[in-house]
Amino acid sequence: MTTPVYLDYAATTPVDPRVAELMSRHLTLDGIFANPASRSHMLGWQAEQAVENARRQVADLIGADPREIVWTSGATEADNLALIGYLRANRHRGRHLVTSVVEHKAVVDTAHALESEGFEVTWLPPGRDGRVTPEQLREAMREDTVLVSLMAVNNELGVIHDLAALAEVAHAGGALFHVDAAQAVGRLDLNVGRLGIDLMSLSGHKAYGPKGIGALYVRRDPDIRLEALIHGGGHERGMRSGTLATHQIVGMGEAFALAGAEGEDDQARITALRDRLLAGLADLDGIHRNTAVEVAVPNILNLAFEGVDGESLLMALRDVALSTGSACNSASVEPSYVLKAIGLPRALALASLRFSFGRFTTEADIDTALSALRHALTGLRRQAI
Ligand SMILES: *Cc1c(COP(=O)(O)O)cnc(C)c1O
Repeated sequence: MTTPVYLDYAATTPVDPRVAELMSRHLTLDGIFANPASRSHMLGWQAEQAVENARRQVADLIGADPREIVWTSGATEADNLALIGYLRANRHRGRHLVTSVVEHKAVVDTAHALESEGFEVTWLPPGRDGRVTPEQLREAMREDTVLVSLMAVNNELGVIHDLAALAEVAHAGGALFHVDAAQAVGRLDLNVGRLGIDLMSLSGHKAYGPKGIGALYVRRDPDIRLEALIHGGGHERGMRSGTLATHQIVGMGEAFALAGAEGEDDQARITALRDRLLAGLADLDGIHRNTAVEVAVPNILNLAFEGVDGESLLMALRDVALSTGSACNSASVEPSYVLKAIGLPRALALASLRFSFGRFTTEADIDTALSALRHALTGLRRQAI
């Protein structure tokens, strides 16, 4: 059996070998393995230094101060800490959150949990392109709105929110602006100062770092108070207790440094790969672009294939690893809630595939996917007649 071509980078990226090599030097007795909180010996100080170096690497990529980075287990936990931690700590100021229906489940389900705690949520619907506009946000703002949470890049469609404009509206309404940027690292400029972002969720494994590590950017000026979700030794300025995972953290730091150094080149190369895929399908009928490519990152392309069922198409595409909509939902046969929200008819939503590319995707990978796809489509459509 041949290894399938991997076109599911939006679900997770492979760890960059340079990152893996560095991580392996932070595990064993001959490496930097000690507890970064150990103050009584040099080995602890070395681990602390490794962690602080990584904190600076992450901060540098987003134009932040290292003291504004709080390590978490991933973007999911960062989203939970931002939303729950901020709303609970500021309930005396207001109880209203604004977000969108196309957010990742890490935000959607957290906002639902807050609703059951008595907070109020306004759920903005996206336009056909999958984005919420600053005008929509302006209309949703209330006296008691304390937080706005919108994603940088949609994980199913790849479309990019106008963060600077949305932040301005949130601030004008007296609220803070939280951004889930899990899909944006190495793809977009994420300078928090320029964009006006107050809280930002980051993930290691969507940017060639390891799984199980992430961070929340928490603006310090003015200081933002968050109620901790995880209590313990008071790590991370009391916002997130637990022994720091040195190997994961140095991995994420190195991955983010590489994103800063190579992200733009990666994206230029990936744009050509995406266009190669589109060109290779141009002569086929009944293919809809769910992704508004002119406002999307080039590494995510969502397409609908008229007259076929997405699951059958996936089965026929065994040599290509990709997903229908969001990987988190692939157990259910319900159409993706994101594709529903942009108004795609049920049949087309069920016949949609998300292609996502990355640093290690080659032209040969695209060509393999193209010939598998063309073969599968012709076969399935012939059956359907
Ligand atoms: C993957 C992803 C998450 C979850 O990140 P984890 O680090 O896996 O917890 C959150 N939001 C978006 C947009 C994502 O793509």
